[in-house]
Amino acid sequence: MDIPLHHVFNYTDVDRAFWAEHLEAWVPKEIVDAHVHVTNPAFQREKPSEDRRRSFWVMEVLEPQDADSLARCYAILYPNRNVSLLGFGFPDLSYDTAGQNEYVSRQCVARGWHGLAVSDPHWTTSECERVLALPGIIGFKPYYEMIGKSDSTRDAHLESSIFDFLPHPQLELLNDRGAWVTLHVPHADRLGHPQNIREIQEIRRRYPKLLLVIAHLGRSYTEPHALEGITPLAADKGLYWDNCAVLNPAVHRIALEKIGPENILYGTDNPVFYMRGRRQWRGRSYINRTSHPFHFNKEREAPEIEAGYTLYMYEALKALKEACAGLGLARAQVEALLGGNARRLIRRVAEAKRRA
Ligand SMILES: [Zn+2]
Repeated sequence: MDIPLHHVFNYTDVDRAFWAEHLEAWVPKEIVDAHVHVTNPAFQREKPSEDRRRSFWVMEVLEPQDADSLARCYAILYPNRNVSLLGFGFPDLSYDTAGQNEYVSRQCVARGWHGLAVSDPHWTTSECERVLALPGIIGFKPYYEMIGKSDSTRDAHLESSIFDFLPHPQLELLNDRGAWVTLHVPHADRLGHPQNIREIQEIRRRYPKLLLVIAHLGRSYTEPHALEGITPLAADKGLYWDNCAVLNPAVHRIALEKIGPENILYGTDNPVFYMRGRRQWRGRSYINRTSHPFHFNKEREAPEIEAGYTLYMYEALKALKEACAGLGLARAQVEALLGGNARRLIRRVAEAKRRA
């Protein structure tokens, strides 16, 4: 029986069978999703233009999801698991940022979750202080698109310096507070771009008390990107990473080998990863196979293959499982990776906030 999840995606018998075969025995009882987007859709003040929707596949897949819907979906997606999360709104100037941050704060308090505030690079220190004081909010989710608006693409500010959208005065405050920052790195060359490596090392040197988490393993979705980006930073044991949106078992393996399971946090990047299908890799690029007729979905697979598609978030979990098995990780390390690490760090940052 199909159960509607969110947007155009359902939970089907294929997903139930996939969970039973690959995930039921492996996924720990306690999970933390350390990277998930949640908002009230009413805060999306304008819908994206057709150009913008077609400029990047995520734009077509992404529909804002509220906390009730998220909680309902997670009870289906992670059967009989205790799931907590670190959630945040959409870092996008077509949304009401203040409204989203207050919403995330209220929902986190009501549900025992924790949240990050989508941050605006133009905020003054006192504006930042006000947002960091919101209950349940433990840090910032900055993003280069918050620098300025573009109707045609989400990449107008892709080649920015990190300090253009996470300025030094904000970093000083976040460091003082021991706050959390989940950083989506800029540049088409991804994490391995020399400016990213230099600037992340500078943040770690100058602001060692803030908790820096590199999102999507530095946007390392292919093996070459993972090797270039992860290698120069992997030895820093004070730096943390989330593995959300990574479906590539080879990338998970590189991350686990180089960074180690104690510095990696599980995340989904939902609601995007409710998408059905599978991802394939060619050198430095990937192709998303999916069964929904999205505009970007031009290279379809045979109907019998599409019929076997499960959710991307399940494929990501299976890829992570394969990498853990290949490296012979202990059960305790798997449990840390999927929940224990995030729980410990959230507790640490929440305590620092209480003391401040
Ligand atoms: Zn995200």
